[in-house]
Amino acid sequence: MATALITGSARGIGAAIALRLASDGYNIALNDISEAMFENNDIMDKIKALGVECEKFICDVSNYEQVEATVKAVKERFKTIDVLVNNAGITRDGLLARMSEEQYDTVIAVNQKSVFNMSKFVGNIMMRQKSGRIINLASVAGLYGNPGQMNYSATKAAIIGMTKTVAKELGSRGITCNAVAPGFIKTPMTDKLTDAQRDAMLAQIAMKRYGEVEEIAGVVSFLASKDASYVTGQVIEISGGLSM
Ligand code: NAP
Repeated sequence: MATALITGSARGIGAAIALRLASDGYNIALNDISEAMFENNDIMDKIKALGVECEKFICDVSNYEQVEATVKAVKERFKTIDVLVNNAGITRDGLLARMSEEQYDTVIAVNQKSVFNMSKFVGNIMMRQKSGRIINLASVAGLYGNPGQMNYSATKAAIIGMTKTVAKELGSRGITCNAVAPGFIKTPMTDKLTDAQRDAMLAQIAMKRYGEVEEIAGVVSFLASKDASYVTGQVIEISGGLSM
């Protein structure tokens, strides 16, 4: 049975992607930064109820050595890694004039270096398998910029460049690499925004509503499926028509 590894998947978009890929028939390797993220959380039970195997692997995806060890452990447990979803991400928002070096560096490490770490070690396994799907979580902030998110938008724009580079480097080995760029999706990450920030965002959305995590998971499921076998290096915006 094929296996999908989803980073930052204890909650939010990552958990929805894990559930969807489980319902597609994948064994699931969950990841998050701490065991605590899985407490009071029934994601593993929900996945196992779908009849697939599921294991959690605690690791900080910004840490090169931890990622190397985790990828090795996932491979040992499940024998193959067929789908990698680089989902883990954080925000540390602030206007440029007030953003600290720490705020900038932390977001770069978690959102961007993690994609290098994971893609390198999982990519090596996929190259030996001569097949695989890598799907990266970018953002509309990486396509259009967003005030207060110099750090975050930098990482999401970088992820788009990384996606195209991985697609070009690994395409001849039967590996595709694509990105999705969500707009405003209801999750703990966006719960932190003020009402004014939410209203400003809603005014720009053609569909006049926020997205649901399942609406991201559905597109990721497509990119992981046979139907997307000739799609690579692409960025699919999932934003209810934020920009047209
Ligand atoms: P979320 O609810 O905050 O979930 C992200 C998960 O990743 C959290 O459980 C988080 O744990 C975990 N994580 C953070 N740092 C990690 C690390 N170093 N190693 C491993 N796991 C780590 O976020 P979300 O809204 O679902 O977002 C998921 C992805 O979609 C992110 O890449 C985000 O940038 C992107 N995205 C989201 C939206 C949106 O509207 N929500 C829009 C565009 C793009 P902690 O809580 O402990 O940090």
